Amino acid sequence: MSRHHHRSRTRQRAESFRCANCRLDVPMDAPGTAHRNHCPNCLWSRHLDDRVPGDRASQCHARMEPLSIAVRGDGEWVIIHRCTGCDVLSGNRAAGDDNPLSLIRIAVRPLARPPFPLEHLAAL
Ligand SMILES: [Zn+2]
Ligand SMILES: [Zn+2]
Repeated sequence: MSRHHHRSRTRQRAESFRCANCRLDVPMDAPGTAHRNHCPNCLWSRHLDDRVPGDRASQCHARMEPLSIAVRGDGEWVIIHRCTGCDVLSGNRAAGDDNPLSLIRIAVRPLARPPFPLEHLAAL
């Protein structure tokens, strides 16, 4: 029996990870999703997956900023992340234990900073 350690920092079945943004230790088990890919506290992620969620094939590994919320047809919220390293965009399902305040903060961000006076809407 031999065990090969290709890279000591890569664990095959990590049970938790440390958020690169807020330093929270996050358990990998997440309600409602098979692949936890973002911090439930601050919602930042890391660029680990390449094409398929959970493939961990990306070489980038930079932090990914939660940019906005998209809503799928079934009403499920998807967090849109943008990588701070390579600018790639990706959509990740919100997990059941994501901080609701953090989610709402991202969802209303455009309304909090409108590019035109909101009073103009009344005139339409
Ligand atoms: Zn965090
Ligand atoms: Zn990246």
